[in-house]
Amino acid sequence: MSSLLDTYAQVVGRDVIEQLYQVADSLSGLRVVHVNSTRLGGGVAEILEKLVPLTRELGIDTRWEVISGTPEFYRCTKSFHDALQGVAVSVDPGLLRVFEDTNAVNAEQLGPILRDADVVFIHDPQPAPLLKLFPDRKGRWIWRCHIDIHRPYRPVWRYLRDFISLYDASIFSLPSFAQPLPHVQYIIPPSIDPLAQKNVDLPDHEIVAALERFAIDRDRPIVLQVSRFDRFKDPVGVIHGYRLAKTFVPALQLVLAGGSATDDPDGEVVLAEVRQLAEGDPDLHVLHLPPDAHRTINALQRAADVVVQKSLREGFGLTVTEAMWKGKPVIGGDTGGIRLQVVDYHTGFLVSTPEGAALRMRYLLRDRAKRSEMGQKARDFVRDNFLITRHLRDYLTLILGLTHGAEDRIELS
Ligand code: UDP
Repeated sequence: MSSLLDTYAQVVGRDVIEQLYQVADSLSGLRVVHVNSTRLGGGVAEILEKLVPLTRELGIDTRWEVISGTPEFYRCTKSFHDALQGVAVSVDPGLLRVFEDTNAVNAEQLGPILRDADVVFIHDPQPAPLLKLFPDRKGRWIWRCHIDIHRPYRPVWRYLRDFISLYDASIFSLPSFAQPLPHVQYIIPPSIDPLAQKNVDLPDHEIVAALERFAIDRDRPIVLQVSRFDRFKDPVGVIHGYRLAKTFVPALQLVLAGGSATDDPDGEVVLAEVRQLAEGDPDLHVLHLPPDAHRTINALQRAADVVVQKSLREGFGLTVTEAMWKGKPVIGGDTGGIRLQVVDYHTGFLVSTPEGAALRMRYLLRDRAKRSEMGQKARDFVRDNFLITRHLRDYLTLILGLTHGAEDRIELS
């Protein structure tokens, strides 16, 4: 067994890794290609960075190709992203031409690799037109959507759907994101990497140092929300919930940790509002963190007694997964992907109001045994469902299904 997979075996158990080998065995000799539009930054690149080498270690010839484009191209695809998330944007026909021409140039460059591949995963809308440019393709092509597309802006979706309908299958993260399309759709939720800096075990002294750096008292209860300062994350609602809970648990501290808002005017407004609300309360810590503060976030999640993610709308909510993996019960907004992770009364609580959040904070903060019981269930739930090894298994089984006809017998022994 190779060293990278060996390391994962220590976290998820050898059985899980053996199962991956078992499925991969039927796929040896296949050429798989992933195509997206960035090698660095964003969740897709983060996932591929681990998924691709792990698939290779399983003996499957896997490549990761990245298309390139001009700033105009990215301006166009950013509009697509917003539109798929429900924003009414009109895209200039000139930009649509840039979009299609850019894909044509990339198709020429990637020609032999894509034409001969057995399985091609095209991630998100940016490279979606590629398929149309390979009428002589050999393999099965899958469109993988990472976006919350439950209510897309119709005119833009109709335009993109013309490209996407041609695929052999598509993948969405949640059942509610699935769309009327003329091919089979798979639901594969995202995952976290237990070996990433954000999630690895930390020595106690590092956790203590992080708390000291922000003048957070480790001997008093800590409730934490990690989020961009975005209205959909409802930081104001979290503060109201904390204030109510504090009347019952006077020692309570709240930590709101979020990334830079300088490139997001709305984010700055929300951050300013949050700071104003926090003024004069030494127990309310608003932390503005740099984008690479992975170990700091890790330390805060480990130091917290209870983690909150009181979103009003949430595609998946990786912060929920990260906290649950650290054995924390999560009080989450009753919405989107949080519902998939927080099993009410088992791995945490689902809430719709600040009052509901306060009630659950009070309950959990008063009962250490309950906290650790729910936290343990939360960690087990993530181990079984939301780690990168599960994600990899889903991809392998999907490839297995797509590369075998209905009449074939698939033997996994
Ligand atoms: N995150 C971060 N720094 C911050 C805020 C968030 O690194 O200041 C990370 C967080 O740990 C998680 C991701 O960004 O891994 C946010 O993903 P999620 O699905 O929770 O929300 P999104 O921001 O994509 O809506």
